[in-house]
Amino acid sequence: MSLINYLINIRNSNKQSMLRDQFGRIHNYLRISLTERCNLRCFYCMPANGIQLSPKENIMRAEEIEILVSKFVKLGVNKIRFTGGEPFVRKDFDSIATSLSKLNCEMAITTNGILIDQHIETFKNCGIFKINISIDSLKKDKFNSITRRDYFNRVMDNIELLFSKGFNPKLNVVVIRGVNDDELIDFIGLTKEWNTTVQFIEYMPFQGNKWDFSKTVNAEEILQNVSRIFGEGNVLKVEDKKNDTSRKYKIKGFTGNFGMISTVSNPFCDSCNRIRLTANGRIKNCLFSGSETDLLTALRNNENVEELIKETVFNKKSQRGGIKNFASEEGRLMSESNRSMILIGG
Ligand code: SF4
Repeated sequence: MSLINYLINIRNSNKQSMLRDQFGRIHNYLRISLTERCNLRCFYCMPANGIQLSPKENIMRAEEIEILVSKFVKLGVNKIRFTGGEPFVRKDFDSIATSLSKLNCEMAITTNGILIDQHIETFKNCGIFKINISIDSLKKDKFNSITRRDYFNRVMDNIELLFSKGFNPKLNVVVIRGVNDDELIDFIGLTKEWNTTVQFIEYMPFQGNKWDFSKTVNAEEILQNVSRIFGEGNVLKVEDKKNDTSRKYKIKGFTGNFGMISTVSNPFCDSCNRIRLTANGRIKNCLFSGSETDLLTALRNNENVEELIKETVFNKKSQRGGIKNFASEEGRLMSESNRSMILIGG
């Protein structure tokens, strides 16, 4: 190792140690919600009666995002993911991505895919190759009923477009019993030819999304079904990386793989490295944390934002924002007091 690389490594490990929580977990992954708005209305994400949007002046401006994110990077963040709402609803997405690409972080995005064809050049120019597309059904009618909008063809066309342009997007599927749990094998079928990961995400409780424990489908149940269809010997474990949220498998001979994200039934909080920044500039140290820290106001008031970030991360609870059991009354009340999913970005 050259002296320069040695010094860079020392500097990076020092940086990494700066966002450590009280349990010793190091946080290097920031998820940034760019907007509260979305062009879909998925029932598990957006409450039926809509949401109260933050006033425009309370939403982070592009230059404020850049300043805040550079502070996170200074503290050791080296991976950022754009979320929403729907990130492409924000008209200045391309310029935000371009300015953040100068921070030398890995950049990723989660999107519903409707507008993705307009941003492919930006992906290439900024090095955004980790793209997750949310799609909960391969049947047009069901897709429309889940999303309460009619964009199925456009999303499918854009997924194919990405593959044709050399990207390998992951597909995120929120599995809800009685809604789309009959399509898991169809989704896995896509991995036969496509070099993709289909991520089955457990239905999680958020404000106003009518969650019920009986509607979650856990990893074990999915694996049993998959083994029954493909044969147990053909379902192979794929090695998971450190900090991976999904436990991955593949079908023998298939190109891609599939994974399960079991936040409800089997949380993976021990290795959590994630922090979230909401579109109105609040930091959440956990997807389910009941408390938030207002960085945007602090920034506008010239306060010490970096100390606030460090303190918020340090105080993170060991698991799921302190919720021990979602199915309990306490769990129900705590998740109901959290934001709805559209205001967090997943
Ligand atoms: S529930 Fe919270 S602590 Fe657990 S993995 Fe998700 S964000 Fe991390």
